[in-house]
Amino acid sequence: MDPNLDQDRPMRVRMAPSPTGPLHLGTARTSLYNFLTARHTGGTYVLRIEDTDAARSTVEFERDIIDNLHWLGISWDEGPQVAGGDDVGSHAPYRQSGRMDRYAEEAHRLLESGRAYRCWCTHEELEAVRREQEAAKEPPRYNRRCLNPTDAERVAFEADDRSPVIRFQVEAEKIRFDDVIRGEVEFDNALLGDFVIVRNDGVPLYHFVVVVDDEAMEITHVIRGEDHLSNTPKHIALIRALGYREPRFGHIPLILNADRSKMSKRKSQTAMTAYREEGYLPEAMVNFMAFLGWSPGTEEEIFTLAELTDRFEIEKVHKGGAVFDRDRLDHLNGVYLRAMTDEQLALRLRPWVPDAVRDDDLRHIVPIVKERLVRLADITGLAAFLWEPDAVVSSWYGPELLHPKKGGPAEARAALEGARGMLGELDDADFSAEVIEQRARAAAEAIGAKAGDFFSPIRVAVTGRTISPPLFDSLELLGRERSLARLEIALEKLGEVPA
Ligand code: GLU
Repeated sequence: MDPNLDQDRPMRVRMAPSPTGPLHLGTARTSLYNFLTARHTGGTYVLRIEDTDAARSTVEFERDIIDNLHWLGISWDEGPQVAGGDDVGSHAPYRQSGRMDRYAEEAHRLLESGRAYRCWCTHEELEAVRREQEAAKEPPRYNRRCLNPTDAERVAFEADDRSPVIRFQVEAEKIRFDDVIRGEVEFDNALLGDFVIVRNDGVPLYHFVVVVDDEAMEITHVIRGEDHLSNTPKHIALIRALGYREPRFGHIPLILNADRSKMSKRKSQTAMTAYREEGYLPEAMVNFMAFLGWSPGTEEEIFTLAELTDRFEIEKVHKGGAVFDRDRLDHLNGVYLRAMTDEQLALRLRPWVPDAVRDDDLRHIVPIVKERLVRLADITGLAAFLWEPDAVVSSWYGPELLHPKKGGPAEARAALEGARGMLGELDDADFSAEVIEQRARAAAEAIGAKAGDFFSPIRVAVTGRTISPPLFDSLELLGRERSLARLEIALEKLGEVPA
C-alpha cells in the first residue's frame, strides 16, 4: 500500500448513498472502489444511509440500494445489512436520521465558538443582494448582514417571528489537500461565502452532517465521486473549525457517455436495476465498473471480485473521465456467460424463462443458445419459439418473410413441402439434429435448391424469425409433431401460389 494512504490509524472507508433514488451506476462504482480498497488493505467498510432529506428518502430506495449492492457481491462490515433493518457495528447510528442530537450539539458548538451565526435574512432580501452583486459583476455570496447584528436588530428579528438559519463563517483562506487520486489540489475559500449548515426548520444540511458523520464514524479515507471535489474545501474548513481529525480525500473520475457528456439520470440508463433486469451478470457488471477509472496496467481484462481485491489500488485510479462503453459491457457479459457450465447457465436463465418450461427442458435449450446470448434476457428472443404456442409463433412473421433471399413464394413452397415430406418420413427416434441435417441437405439437392435458400423458409416457419439458434438443433428440440404443424401453418400462410 502507498504509505501516503496510511493515516497511523486503522483504515475505515465508507459509502454514503442517499435513499432518494434507486442505486445509481456511479454510486455502485464508488461503492465498489471503497469495497476493494477496504478489502485490499484489510480496512473496515461502512455503509451510511444519508437520509437527512426526509421528504425524498424512502425505505424502498434503501432496499433497492442494499439489494443491488448485495447482488453485486459488495459487502460491508458496519451499517444496516437489510433495508429498514437494525444498525450493525460499533459506530451506530448509520442512518443520519438517528444522529440529529449530535448535529444539533455540533451546530451549537460552532455558534458558541463564533464560527457559525444565525441569519434571519429572508429569501427576498437574499435575492436582492444577489441581483446587486450580479449588476456589480461580483461573485454571488452572502453579504454577512447577520454576522454581527446589533441587539436592537436581533430583538426586531425575533419579534418579527422570523426563524433563523445557521451559517458557517468561511475564512478567506486557501485550502490545500493531497487527493489520493488527483494529487495536490488547491481551492480559494475566499470565493465561497458563508453557507447554510442548518435550515430554519432545524434540519442540518449535507456539508455539515457529512463532516460530523465522518468524524463520528472515524472515517480515515473519503473516497467519492469527482462531483464532490468542489465540496471538499467546505468540508475541510468545517473539519478544522470543529477541531476534527482530517481524513484523506480521493475523488473518482466521472462516468461519461460515449460523447463524453456527463452521464445523467435523464439522458442515460443509470439505475443498476435496469442492467440487472436486462440480464447482465453481477460478475460482468463488477468487472466492467472496476475498469471505469482503473486498469491493471496490463492487457488482462477478466477479473473476478476476488482478483480485483487482490490487484486494485485506489491510488492508481485515473484522473480523466471514464467513458461508459456498452459494447465492452456486452462483451464481458458474453465472456462470463460462456465460461459457465450449461447447468450454471440454466440456473441463471431460470427467471427469464416461463415456469411451464421444466428445468430439464431448459438444460437442453442452453447449449443451442449459449453462443448467441449477450444478456440473459436475450433468451426470450432466441428461444421463445420453443415454449410459445404455434399460433403465437406464426403471428411473428408475414408470408413475405418465408421467401428465400433468392426466390419468391414458389421457392418458399417448394422448400416447406420438401421439409414436410422429409420430416414426415422420420420417426421420433430418428428425430435428431444430425439425421435431420443429412436429410435436409439431400432434400435441397433433390429439388436443385441452394442449402441457404432451402433452409431459410423452414427456419422462419419453425422459429418465427430469420435469425435463430442453429436450425437442426431447433427442430430436434421442438420435436417432430410441432415442427410439422408449424410447416403446415406456414404453407397455409403462403396461400395458393399461382402457377
Ligand atoms: N450522499 C452523497 C451522495 O449520494 C455522498 C456524500 C459523500 O460521499 O460524501 O452523493
